[in-house]
Amino acid sequence: MQPPMSRTGEGAGRHMCVAFSAAILRPPSFHLPSMKRVSVRRSPIHGKGVFALRPLSRGERVFEYRGLVTTWREASRHYARRDEESHTFLFGLSDGRVIDGGRGGNGARWLNHACSANCEAVEGADRVYIEAIRNIAPGEELFIDYALEVPPKTSQKSLSDYACRCGTRRCRGTMLGRAWRDRVRAVDRSA
Ligand SMILES: [Zn+2]
Repeated sequence: MQPPMSRTGEGAGRHMCVAFSAAILRPPSFHLPSMKRVSVRRSPIHGKGVFALRPLSRGERVFEYRGLVTTWREASRHYARRDEESHTFLFGLSDGRVIDGGRGGNGARWLNHACSANCEAVEGADRVYIEAIRNIAPGEELFIDYALEVPPKTSQKSLSDYACRCGTRRCRGTMLGRAWRDRVRAVDRSA
């Protein structure tokens, strides 16, 4: 189980942390990708986004999700002191620690979520890489499926904060991971 964490602290009047989770675990590679294949600019989906600067091939390791590797507890304490407008860029590692893209991170922290993502996160040896899962044309925005995990006691009302508006045909309506989707559907039915 991934620790609870968050990409954005956009809850109403509080700073809640939830987590990305890497889709795949793979051994580390000696190839260290840089951000030069992509640029960060305003996204039509949400805030800033990451865009391809050149054609990217399916399976290509595009860049690393950089940041401070720390514990979930330390990260929560660090961000609890921040104002509610601040953004939290945490990526859950399989051993329970997190990568905090807000400290020492790169442009990868601006990756937006999509239900039909064109990239995925791959974890290996305390590092997380973003890899293309299909061919991507220059100018296209890069997306991963956040598959967010939130703390067990999150209220059903708060779960609606993670609604997805990716606009794709296969949109499942939430940025939450599999374990949480049924709960969200239950809320929808009772509304
Ligand atoms: Zn969606």
